Amino acid sequence: MTGSVRAAHTALALTNGLLIDGTGAEPIRAASVQVDSEGAITYAGPDSLAPEVASGTTTVNVGGNAILPGFFDCHVHFCLPGGAADIGLTMALPASLKVFQIAERMRTTLEAGVTSARDLMGVDVGFRMAIDAGVIAGPRLVLSVGIVSSTGGHGDMTQLSGINVLPYLQSPGCFPAVADGEDQVRAMTRRILQAGADVVKIAATGGVLTPTDRPDDVGMSVAEIRAVVEEARSRRGGVHVAAHAQGRRGIQNALDGGVDSIEHGYDLTTEQRAQMVDEGTFLVPTLSEVMGSLDPSAGPVALAKKALWQGKARTNFPAAVAAGVKIAAGTDAGAAPEHGHNLRELGLLVDNGLTSMQAIVAATRHSAELCQLDHLVGTLEAGKRADIVVSDGNPLSNIQLLGDPANILLVIKDGVVAKDRAGFLTDRPVSPR
Ligand SMILES: [Zn+2]
Repeated sequence: MTGSVRAAHTALALTNGLLIDGTGAEPIRAASVQVDSEGAITYAGPDSLAPEVASGTTTVNVGGNAILPGFFDCHVHFCLPGGAADIGLTMALPASLKVFQIAERMRTTLEAGVTSARDLMGVDVGFRMAIDAGVIAGPRLVLSVGIVSSTGGHGDMTQLSGINVLPYLQSPGCFPAVADGEDQVRAMTRRILQAGADVVKIAATGGVLTPTDRPDDVGMSVAEIRAVVEEARSRRGGVHVAAHAQGRRGIQNALDGGVDSIEHGYDLTTEQRAQMVDEGTFLVPTLSEVMGSLDPSAGPVALAKKALWQGKARTNFPAAVAAGVKIAAGTDAGAAPEHGHNLRELGLLVDNGLTSMQAIVAATRHSAELCQLDHLVGTLEAGKRADIVVSDGNPLSNIQLLGDPANILLVIKDGVVAKDRAGFLTDRPVSPR
């Protein structure tokens, strides 16, 4: 059961926690995190060195449980339901219902411990504004609004019937972003940024789930990708570009075009891994998507594609970890993975070569860097905004704990309590550990 939710900032002191601060530093037992009444972290460290709290501070003994930074999911699609989506059914729903469904997915994502989410297609900036204004509950949003894609590419959702289903899937303020050639992609990037996008998403290759393109297909030329990157770089101090890229030729175009992240990256080669390390390009491996099983109703062609690309990822992702590629955490929630179990991705990262600490850093500090939010959040350090999760037990000894939202006891976003499952801030007893 979810505990009471506070709508306002209060000065807080969490004490007696296992502090895992997101920097990769050794965990600290019997630790405190203090938050002022403006929602800023003022202290994170041992209880024994903690300054005395100001009067009016609410002190919470977290009973030895883990205190972590709020987590990131760098690849979600809140407009999609997850699981076996029936596009025909989705097309029949009124737009207003879809808005409420998206809001509900955002709330469950926040309550799963994800205090920042990067949506890479399908949500317009009204949702970000609604969350920031406290109208709905949800993570900090980093939005691409659409996917810049060539005609017939992964972001062009025109079906064999001739019907483009994208407008029925996306939130009402989004638009298809199909563009061909340098001039058109440049103009489309400008339009996406004008719509308030925080990041530009491109379709550098085809994909597993689209009917007439394949992950090996090249989606955009190097010249087109360079034009997108140049436009993004020239705005707001340098907006990042994320490339949906699965097959190796399209991955190469994306890297040569200068993108900031390879999304999926299932078929990365040794040379490409080295290039990513050299250039500091992030990999968002979306293991929740590729390692999950596909619903048999998807049909034999999709199932065969899935098996093939899962096999590639099983080999190539651990090799990327070994090569030292910077990993950020993303699930593709809404595509196949369902919303609200985002932190299962950390278990998959550990199953495929990361240590538990590396997986936590990937989903906090590294993800904050990729989302250009590292000046605000991603680590628990004095001066950062208070995005904090308290989880049951010690995720360093069992990372799978984080994947079950029942183990996410407390979620604080920007200093405001968003979930209090253990009743830390009410009078319910906390079981000691
Ligand atoms: Zn995706």
